[in-house]
Amino acid sequence: MTRRIEDAMALRVQQLDWMSPETKQQALAKLHAIRNKIGYPDNWRDYSSVKIVPNDFYGNNLRATEFETHRELNKVGKPVDRGEWGMTPPTVNAYFDPQMNDINFPAGVLQPPLYDAKLDDAPNYGNTGSTIGHELTHGFDDEGRQFDAKGNLKDWWTKEDADQFVNTPTASWTSMRSTSSLTMSTSIRS
Ligand SMILES: [Zn+2]
Repeated sequence: MTRRIEDAMALRVQQLDWMSPETKQQALAKLHAIRNKIGYPDNWRDYSSVKIVPNDFYGNNLRATEFETHRELNKVGKPVDRGEWGMTPPTVNAYFDPQMNDINFPAGVLQPPLYDAKLDDAPNYGNTGSTIGHELTHGFDDEGRQFDAKGNLKDWWTKEDADQFVNTPTASWTSMRSTSSLTMSTSIRS
């Protein structure tokens, strides 16, 4: 499903009448580089060092926060782990991460009534399909478009195309959107 919607989006980008061939090439390169993360991470995070004590909410909270702070600080100076997830598998939500250039659909959002393998294509595309399209378009909205295929803050637009995008928003971003959502980048993580 995700790959089919990405193919449909590539077709839409190619058909945009306001975007130059140079910018289209960059947009397609970014679209093809998007990593599709579905269900759960390849590597599970090891929480075994976090001591959880019944009836010690404050202490549990403190130790969990300490673990997380160390985990984040340990990343300094190391290569980016592109397999990392920003949501847990049971989370009923999805997100696009501009700095990773990936779309993430935890197992929680792929359960009935949102997604059901036993149902026809139509309801699954209507629900989960629009979520996939929604997250994909975040890569090309007013915030996401500022990041390149590797997730670096880099301007890959020609000046004319960027002007078109900014000055004629209804003509630009709604035509790139494959969903009916009228939100721009209300939040990176949604
Ligand atoms: Zn969103």
